[in-house]
Amino acid sequence: MEDCLFCKIVKGEVPSDKVYEDEYVLAFKDIHPVAPVHVLVIPKVHIKDYNELNEENIKYIDRVQLAIKEVAKVCGVDKEGYRVICNTGENGGQVVHHIHFHLIGGKKLGSKI
Ligand code: 5GP
Ligand code: ZN
Repeated sequence: MEDCLFCKIVKGEVPSDKVYEDEYVLAFKDIHPVAPVHVLVIPKVHIKDYNELNEENIKYIDRVQLAIKEVAKVCGVDKEGYRVICNTGENGGQVVHHIHFHLIGGKKLGSKI
C-alpha cells in the first residue's frame, strides 16, 4: 500500500524507533506514548483491520501475537503485566489503517487508557 504510513515504516521510508523485528513482524515505539511503554506491533504485510482477516492472512496475525510476548520481554514488562489493544474502524478509534496492536505498560493502568 503506497500511501500507508505503517507500510512506509516497514520499508524504512519513514523513520521509527524499533524495539523488535523478525521476518513477519515489526514493533516500534508509538510517537505519542500514553504510558512509559507504548509500542505498536504490526505485521509487515498490509492488512487494513480485523474485517480484512481471513484464512490466508491470519498466519501473519499469529506471528504478531507471538511477537507481542517477545516485545513485552524486550521492554521489561512481561512479568509486571501490560495491555494489548487493537482499535478497529471509526468507532474503535482506528486512525492508521494498517492493523496494529498497541502494547501498553510500565505503570498500573486504569480501566480505560
Ligand atoms: P490507532 O489510533 O490507529 O489505533 O493508533 C495509531 C497510533 O499510531 C497512534 O497511537 C499514534 O500516536 C501512532 N502514530 C501515528 N503516526 C505515527 C508515526 O509516524 N510514528 C509512530 N511511531 N507512531 C505514529
Ligand atoms: Zn500498510
